[in-house]
Amino acid sequence: MAADKNQPNRITELFGIEYPIIQGGMIWCAGWELASAVSEAGGLGVIGSGSMYPEVLKDHISKCKAATSNPFAVNLPLLYPDIEKHVESIIELGVPIVFTSAGSPKKWTSKLKSHGITVAHVVSSAVFAAKSEAAGVDAVVCEGFEAGGHNGREETTTMCLIPSVVESVDIPVIAAGGLYDGKSMLAAMVLGAEGAQMGSRFVATKESSAHNEFKKIVVELGEGGTSLTLKELTPVRMIHNQFYRKVIEAYEAKATNEELAELLGRGRSKKGMFEGNIDEGELEIGQIASMLQKIQPAGKVVIEIVQQYTDTGGQKLGKRFEF
Ligand code: NDP
Repeated sequence: MAADKNQPNRITELFGIEYPIIQGGMIWCAGWELASAVSEAGGLGVIGSGSMYPEVLKDHISKCKAATSNPFAVNLPLLYPDIEKHVESIIELGVPIVFTSAGSPKKWTSKLKSHGITVAHVVSSAVFAAKSEAAGVDAVVCEGFEAGGHNGREETTTMCLIPSVVESVDIPVIAAGGLYDGKSMLAAMVLGAEGAQMGSRFVATKESSAHNEFKKIVVELGEGGTSLTLKELTPVRMIHNQFYRKVIEAYEAKATNEELAELLGRGRSKKGMFEGNIDEGELEIGQIASMLQKIQPAGKVVIEIVQQYTDTGGQKLGKRFEF
């Protein structure tokens, strides 16, 4: 069986990578060590700039460039307060690819592209995919309800989202949400995606900058251990810990949006994912964490995915594929 018809693959050509495997640019987890390890293994490593002060991002970009000569990207949440400074650093330091998310791609795409930067935008619906294409992005990432962290309000699953996004645009589509191995990647490719973005799988790696306590919880999590909540603020999928239970109690007490915002406070995700306060922090991870059992080196993860992809019937990927 050769289920996917994606050779030659527009995503590998667009990004100049071996394998159409993109590591999600997760806040507090995706620093230069993770991004460079994924890029070195032939995937696309992505630095998550949403949790980095401007000087911190510069440092991560410089270290990533020193650690790999392969292409890598920066994820830029468009709500980021100091976005102008991030964009300046990205241009100044010659980052070749940017993934924008959480906002309209209209404002920054043309500026980034005028500096020769390839732009992909993350969407949760076919309507936003079409708007992103009209704004001039080179590719879209369609991220379904299963994904961790900030997520679409419509709750469209990856399985439903991929075909509708693929129909709505001509640019290549990268699937995200619920993907973690070669089989799930192949399923996404059969539905018309040309690349697979994985976040949770790469949180559980040696090189991820997440706190070890968070990584441990991720690999021990059972099915049904996360929910998408706080839609009144920004929808976010998180683990059912003590803080999540407080959110549920607040809903039961009919909390106002202001009270929910006060309960969330500032820096909850840092507290949980980076500082390892697993009770009080916001622990953002995708549903697929229930399938993860071990913390692995990121390069090994890439190779395992590629091997399983072809073993399951996907076409051979990349020149360095030798098993
Ligand atoms: P909060 O408002 O709760 O806290 C801000 C956090 O971001 C703090 O921990 C702060 O670090 C850090 N930070 C880094 N740079 C800055 C800056 N220039 N100004 C202020 N704070 C900064 O936000 P969240 O923790 O929920 O989210 C942080 C960022 O990540 C936001 O920009 C958000 O849009 C983005 N995000 C993106 C996601 C995505 O899916 N792409 C998912 C979740 C968040 P310190 O505590 O050291 O001051």
